[in-house]
Amino acid sequence: METLTLEAVGKTPAEEKGIETLASAQTQLARAVALLGYDEGTHEMLRRPRRELQVSVPLRRDDGTVRVFSGYRVQHNLSRGPAKGGVRFDAGVSLDEVRALAMWMTWKCALLDLPYGGAKGGVAIDPRDFSTSELERVTRRYTSEIMPIIGPQRDIPAPDIGTDETTMAWMMDTFSVNNGFTVSGVVTGKPISIGGSLGRSSATSEGLFHVALAALKEEGIRVDQARVAIQGFGKVGAEAARLLAEAGARIQALSDRYGAIYAASGIDVSSLTSHVARTGTLVGFGGAEPIEHAQLLELSGDLLIPAAVEGVLTSDNASAVSARIIVEGANGPTTADADRILEERGIVVVPDILANAGGVLVSYFEWVQAHQAYRWSAREVDERLRGRMLEAWSLVRSRSSRDSLSLRDAATAMAVERVADAHRIRGLYP
Ligand code: GLU
Repeated sequence: METLTLEAVGKTPAEEKGIETLASAQTQLARAVALLGYDEGTHEMLRRPRRELQVSVPLRRDDGTVRVFSGYRVQHNLSRGPAKGGVRFDAGVSLDEVRALAMWMTWKCALLDLPYGGAKGGVAIDPRDFSTSELERVTRRYTSEIMPIIGPQRDIPAPDIGTDETTMAWMMDTFSVNNGFTVSGVVTGKPISIGGSLGRSSATSEGLFHVALAALKEEGIRVDQARVAIQGFGKVGAEAARLLAEAGARIQALSDRYGAIYAASGIDVSSLTSHVARTGTLVGFGGAEPIEHAQLLELSGDLLIPAAVEGVLTSDNASAVSARIIVEGANGPTTADADRILEERGIVVVPDILANAGGVLVSYFEWVQAHQAYRWSAREVDERLRGRMLEAWSLVRSRSSRDSLSLRDAATAMAVERVADAHRIRGLYP
């Protein structure tokens, strides 16, 4: 056998991406800290994750071979309550990406005034390459590896990119079986039959929809005259497209990871949804013409909704963005550099920690229902979702006009202030 030597290797593209994502999150925090006038020690405490767990997740494949994946759970902050945040299954997952996403969860939960800190998890696996039973084994093994730090009072995972309610059912079952009793509140985003909340699966899109309508109104644009482009036709983008189309907006452009489509007169979202259910992609849909991915972000329109991944609006394309309002369905779609360019150009950016907070908000409702052992009606969930999203919108809106800040700076500053206050009031131990 050959002698193996350790080589000094460069970063992988996924690691590079993670570093950029974390840099954007940290820049946003640094701006908020400067606005709030906090000292360097406080800044450092808000910046560093409280706890990080890196695990190896071995999988016995269906053909008997073994593969090992890297898994992570990062708890960024615990000052306001148990950590909360999704689990991402994607080949591009890296520790730095998870750190950034965990930090955003802290601000998102604080902004919505949920009694949570922030966390995120991930496994560097492309779920499309594996069978359902392989994904079940990966999920169960990942869950048992992170078990020492999760739990309904410690850290509550939920779905994110590449995971869904089935993943949550496996996580809940693994945690419960190992404890010897059913622990419903250990994850959210579960199937309804085992304690999931009504309205959770569409919650992110519903919340985004309410905030988008408020932003359009603020800018004096009628929803039935709004021209919309949405990047991403997954859990968030597809449902947002449906809701906006139902409200009369013209959905001119949509994309998924395989391609992008455009129709000046508007895309029929329900026939597109049937096409996607049949073929697995929106490519080849008869009611629209194909365009390049990059074009979608630069179309002139009223509303642009990036609802896919982070880092898509950058200093390279921000000067070409022609929409009047951007509502961030994804986490971190706009880099810190792009933010400055968009701000100078007068484009309104409704930040992720506000725009996509409907998901974690209804996750919170699900967790509350688990504790109450009582189910709320769909109407109750919808009303509370709408009420709290609009309340957060108007608080951010007034802070932004009071202090002449972008919506992102206003939202981040408000969230950071709440976390720092909780920390200050609790005091530094010992
Ligand atoms: N993954 C979602 C997010 O990024 C939801 C997290 C949760 O419900 O805990 O906000």
